[in-house]
Parts: sequence; structure tokens; C-alpha cells
Amino acid sequence: MSEIISIANQKGGVGKTTTAVNLAASLAEKGQKVLLIDADPQSNATTNLGFSRNDYEFNIYHVLIGSKKLSEIVLKTEIKSLHLAPANIGLVGIEKEFHASKSKERELLLKKGLEEMRDRYDFIIIDSPPALGPITINALGASDSVIIPIQCEFFALEGLAQLLNTVSLLRKTINPKLKIRGFLPTMYSKQNNLSKLVLADLEHHFSDKLFRAGKKDSELIVIPRNVRVAESPSFGQPVTQYAGNSKGSMAYHQLATAILKA
Ligand code: ATP
Ligand code: MG
Repeated sequence: MSEIISIANQKGGVGKTTTAVNLAASLAEKGQKVLLIDADPQSNATTNLGFSRNDYEFNIYHVLIGSKKLSEIVLKTEIKSLHLAPANIGLVGIEKEFHASKSKERELLLKKGLEEMRDRYDFIIIDSPPALGPITINALGASDSVIIPIQCEFFALEGLAQLLNTVSLLRKTINPKLKIRGFLPTMYSKQNNLSKLVLADLEHHFSDKLFRAGKKDSELIVIPRNVRVAESPSFGQPVTQYAGNSKGSMAYHQLATAILKA
């Protein structure tokens, strides 16, 4: 049985897509069978893996509305054991469908869509959009756990209470087993005092929910701000492929190792 992990934070630009793509790639590079679901109409995860609009006809929207099966839309990627369920801007249309259907059912459309292929993968990673709307609810509704990227910048923790409330509400309603896998500090820069403050804040409030590595888990896993990470999407590759020895790539590999351990 696979583990389904959503990458979520309604704040924009905090590193959700970067984390989804590179965690999925790192796990696949470690021999895991991985499906990355692009559940954001912006389709950044799809482009980050080198696909453009003409490369595929159907996308996750068609699975959500029930007109295609997941197996009919999944694409193979350059990494052997990494598959992608692509997105497209048309996915915004799901909002309309959502209003037309009954609650509970409409919140579990993605879960239903994933059932067919769940057993074929070790991990299913879902990239979600910067909103707590229908798509993110579906992502969380389908997931065993959620990773919350936190950008090490001003206002980093803003909106976090609302996200945590949503998680606990979902636990009481559609998804009792939903766990918080952890908070992942992203775009950390050593030279920046603000970065250090955000990290200290996270350690203070959520110490047991940070990912750790090294002997006796002594080292916090933090994704550094790294130019190779920022460049890799324009080459249509995860940073783990584009610059495997970069600090960004190594940090995502550390994260994958931590995920495999626990
Ligand atoms: P959205 O909310 O729009 O979906 P997001 O949360 O998915 O955004 P990303 O797209 O992953 O965020 O990252 C935002 C920007 O920051 C991108 O241009 C990305 O390349 C860059 N970025 C992310 N992580 C890093 C990093 N560790 N170092 C340098 N740049 C980064
Ligand atoms: Mg994104």
C-alpha cells in the first residue's frame, strides 16, 4: 500500500511545487515507485518535469470529473520509477463542478480517482495550489499525511493557524487518519537573520514536527536557498537531476531519506 503525501500551504511561493517535484524525484532515485500528482491549475510541477501543453491531451481534471481513469492520463518521466499525473489551466473548472455536487462526495473526488492505481506505487506525492479551496481539500482528503513547506522569510507563519485548523477539521470529517508529516523550512539562507529567526520560531513551536537527519537525528533538515534549485525548472528537470551535487539536491535527498525511515 502506498503512502499518499500532500504538499500544502495556502501561502503562495513558499516552495510547495519545488518540494513536491524534488521529493518525488529523490524518492524515485532511491528506487521507490512514485507518482507525482500535479493538482494545481498553474501546472508548475508538470512544466518542472519538462512537459509542455502539447505533450498530453488529458490531465487530472478529467480524473476528478470522472471522464478518464488515472491510468489513462499518467505520463512516464525521464526518471524511470517516477510517473506524473499532469495538470492544465482547465483544472480551475473543478470549482464549478464542485458547487454542483453534494458535499463529502465532492471532497473525496481525488481519493476516488487514486484508488485504481494506489497499489502500483510506494509513494503518491500531491502538489497543491496556493489556496484552501476545493482542490487543496481534495488533496488533503486523499492523503495519509501532509508536509507543510515554510519559507524562511517575513510573515512565514502567517496563515498557518488557518491551515492547521483545516487539517483538524478534515480529521473530524472526511479524513480521520490525516497526519502532519512535518514542517519543512525552505529557502533558508545562513546570511539572513530573518531566516534564523523563522527557524528558531519553528523549533520553538513545532520541534517534534521538523525533519531530522544525522546521528541520533541531531541535524535539522532545512532546504537552503540555492541558485541551482531556482534554475532547474527552466531546464525541465528536478534539481536532483539538473545538479545532483548541489546543496539543494542534497537537502531533498536528506528529506527523502527521513521520509523512508519513519
Ligand atoms: P505557488 O504557491 O505559486 O504554487 P509554490 O509554493 O509552489 O508556489 P515554488 O514554485 O516551489 O513555490 O517556489 C517559488 C519560487 O521560488 C520558484 O521560482 C522556485 O524556483 C523558487 N525556489 C523554491 N525553492 C527554492 C530554493 N530552495 N532556492 C532557490 N529558489 C527556490
Ligand atoms: Mg506551486
